[in-house]
Amino acid sequence: MDILISEDLDAPAIEELSRKFTVVRDATLWKDAAALKAKISTAGAILVRNQTQLSADVLAAAHRLVAIGRVGVGLDNIDVAAATKLGIVVIAPLNANAVSVAELSLGLMLALARKIPLADRSTKAGAWDRKGCTGRELDGKALAVCGFGRIGRLVALRARAFGLSVRTYDPFVPANSPALAEAGSELCEQLEEALSVADFVSVHLPLTDQTRHLFNTRTIAAIKRGAYFINTSRGGVVDERVLLLALQTGHLAGAALDVRETEPPQTRGALEDLDQVILTPHIGSFTVEAQARTFAAVGEDLRRVLRGQPAENFVNLARPGR
Ligand code: NAD
Repeated sequence: MDILISEDLDAPAIEELSRKFTVVRDATLWKDAAALKAKISTAGAILVRNQTQLSADVLAAAHRLVAIGRVGVGLDNIDVAAATKLGIVVIAPLNANAVSVAELSLGLMLALARKIPLADRSTKAGAWDRKGCTGRELDGKALAVCGFGRIGRLVALRARAFGLSVRTYDPFVPANSPALAEAGSELCEQLEEALSVADFVSVHLPLTDQTRHLFNTRTIAAIKRGAYFINTSRGGVVDERVLLLALQTGHLAGAALDVRETEPPQTRGALEDLDQVILTPHIGSFTVEAQARTFAAVGEDLRRVLRGQPAENFVNLARPGR
């Protein structure tokens, strides 16, 4: 087997790969670690989105694997260090969906501020409740961008066009970064500095040991009362129980979550019942354009690697020769 696909993935780029390589698809494999270990042992490459957990244990069974194609950006489901040690190149076109995620973040900001989902639901239910749908403007408000990487920067730039002032928290960005100047954003040394004045908080962090539950009782309390919270990054950076409490007590005016601590959520919780909460099913990169760019880039790189050529969208320096 040349390429194993362990999730429900479909794209013209996969059809193209199927014409040149032996492609085995099993959309349920990501749910069953034992079956995944058995199947991956004979694969030359694997194509995943974010459901398949490629841990060191699973990769140790991948005796023939030379490449992991990740259709998307977050690498928290792949043990990249283990892959590197084993000489497996990890392919992820990191820029392919940044615009789509940034646009969704702005869309959620507007949807929260103007209560668009509530207005839609009530109008379709036969009401004509203009007063109940009174919203807020973005113009003249303050935005805290947490994580000033590929997506955070695009959000900051677009937010400025809406008249928001932008403060950024990202300890890995130097104060003289041209990207900060370009986005007209002020850099804060402490997270709380950005949160305490923000009317909108937009999160664009990777999920790491340092960022897990970065939004907790202390930091959510530090957000200005009445602010809106938007997370399109990874659910694990927010303690959802604390967020819920902040929404129920009115500390936060609203929240929009594209990502959840557990995906899909196993139970319907209180977040789902709040009108001031917008929930979307991790659709940040689900645009026609981003999907086409991503699949084309990963497909082309898998083709290259399986033919012994170097990948272009590699995220690790794996010693070849497996
Ligand atoms: P990126 O790596 O370009 O940017 C992340 C930024 O976070 C970096 O600038 C880094 O310096 C900063 N950072 C890292 N650790 C930090 C910490 N402890 N405190 C503060 N800042 C820290 O990533 P990106 O491409 O901009 O993606 C951002 C997030 O969006 C990732 O979690 C990614 O998985 C997620 N994402 C979600 C979707 C979606 O469908 N919703 C799609 C693509 C990406």
